Amino acid sequence: MSVLVVGSTALDSIKTPRAEAPRLLGGSASHAALAASFFAPVRLVGIVGRDFPGRYLALYRRRGIDLAGLQVAEGRTFHWAGEYEVNMNHRRTLRTELGVFERFQPQLPAAYRTTPFVLLANIAPALQHHVLDQMRWPRFVLADTMDLWLNTALPDLLRLLRRVDALVLNDGEARQLSGEDNLLAAARRIHRLGPAHVIIKKGEHGSLLSGPDGLFLCPAYPLARVVDPTGAGDSFAGGLMGYLARAGGNPRRHLRAAMLHGSVVASFCCEGFGVRRTTRVTRAEIARRVAELRRLARVD
Ligand code: AMP
Repeated sequence: MSVLVVGSTALDSIKTPRAEAPRLLGGSASHAALAASFFAPVRLVGIVGRDFPGRYLALYRRRGIDLAGLQVAEGRTFHWAGEYEVNMNHRRTLRTELGVFERFQPQLPAAYRTTPFVLLANIAPALQHHVLDQMRWPRFVLADTMDLWLNTALPDLLRLLRRVDALVLNDGEARQLSGEDNLLAAARRIHRLGPAHVIIKKGEHGSLLSGPDGLFLCPAYPLARVVDPTGAGDSFAGGLMGYLARAGGNPRRHLRAAMLHGSVVASFCCEGFGVRRTTRVTRAEIARRVAELRRLARVD
């Protein structure tokens, strides 16, 4: 089964304490689509400008990503620049240039509208709504978001939460959205806003799922060296949805395994700048890390 991914398709300029790289392929939808493509066919909805390098389009295509929903418009591609501190959990946004995203109205190709798995990757909630309006009875909808939308588009986001099966957000965002400091209390409050499943990411400390089947604690794959964590959250969400689409059936039964797979794809994402490592990894390497993660978390 296929996954539809909508989100930002961007050029990222990233600076870490060790190195920097300009205008890499980035954006929430790019990271998520690449991650999902390991497991299932992916349909991408987004917009890029005429300056978007052809080699990046070729890269999507190499991963079998369907680009019928990717608009190429007059103007410049969304550009994001960020800088990490020595502690890479801390990141500063240096620049956000919306470019063609400013007037983006996603129009879904007819064939996309019945896609069963929908990932609303991080983008303005109004655009996430716009995509959802065009879908016919999706089986499972997961939304991602960021603090920017909590600060600038909260009413739209709250309306969106009533329309999705699952919300993924990081610990800080969960606290901000719920007004609760304790993450379990935060999850409980967020359930009341709509989503049956709430996934809270805690960076290198893993993530937690709260839902109708109770709680699940998902470990992060331990890495001795992080090169660039940009897109780790998007890779997590993409890997998770790709896995659910591949598993088919009732997503509830596969959510835990899906989170493990998302966690592993995110670990690969952190090992290279932009999508460099993610695009080179193999299914076999992913499977090996998933098996290792299962071993690391097992108690006899
Ligand atoms: P993450 O590291 O998971 O938070 O995601 C990083 C990605 O989010 C980068 O590739 C950026 O291009 C993208 N991004 C940054 N700011 C925004 C924004 N305001 N809207 C959509 N995507 C963004």
